[in-house]
Amino acid sequence: MVSLPSDYHTHTTYSCDAFDTIDAMCRHALAIGLREVAFTDHLDLHPMDSCTAFYRPADFLADLEVCRAAFPMLVLRAGVEIGEPHRYADRVAAMIDGRRYDVRIGSLHWVGDEMVFEDGYFARRSKDRAALDYFEEMLCMVRHGGFEILGHLDVFRRYGVMYYDDLDLAPYEEAIRAILQTCIAGGIAVEINTAGLRYPSKRLHPDLEVLRWYREMGGERLTVGSDAHRAEGMALGFDLAREMALAAGFTRLCRFENRQVCGWAAIT
Ligand SMILES: [Zn+2]
Ligand SMILES: [Zn+2]
Repeated sequence: MVSLPSDYHTHTTYSCDAFDTIDAMCRHALAIGLREVAFTDHLDLHPMDSCTAFYRPADFLADLEVCRAAFPMLVLRAGVEIGEPHRYADRVAAMIDGRRYDVRIGSLHWVGDEMVFEDGYFARRSKDRAALDYFEEMLCMVRHGGFEILGHLDVFRRYGVMYYDDLDLAPYEEAIRAILQTCIAGGIAVEINTAGLRYPSKRLHPDLEVLRWYREMGGERLTVGSDAHRAEGMALGFDLAREMALAAGFTRLCRFENRQVCGWAAIT
């Protein structure tokens, strides 16, 4: 059985790069003992992104309602993972506002016209520039707001570890603390994203060290997400995420409904 009750970052066939339907995800969630799932399909608008123009909010929400009726034992949250929400605010609002979404993840996948999962981003940058360009853009994003959860705070390291000897975050503490402070002031939750375990970084994002900074600065709102792109990936590494959350001083996870904190789930 899973070691945490909720998975707040998952992708279904409403994402261009995911494989399982909401229904299939629900069946798997039940089988492994999850009690709450937020489906957070990609809303990407960068013109060079392979998922651009793929997302269909009305169909997603209608499908989710069918699954809510079919799986009353699960709490299903209508979520969305918005790529670079600060760059596409008007278009995002036109698609999302006025619809019944419970939670929005804000994620940074692109810095300018370079995706941080691709060679080009790293080939032209020193280690410091790769980190600082990413965190500077992320600070703009969290200052802009328009989402409840900051997705995978240091995800540039997912592949970045292949390009530099080490990608320790300590040298970038000041830049990261500025992001965390803005999150705390704006009520934005930070997530532990476990998908890195499947990628070259082989780690949770962010590190325990960053989570400790967040906690000592007064951060309370925490979610955990597998970033699963198929059913079997749900709750991946949640035992490690649970340990990390507790080690950083968190005893509960934040829950969202209608874009508001609606309660907490104890980490037991
Ligand atoms: Zn993402
Ligand atoms: Zn994702």
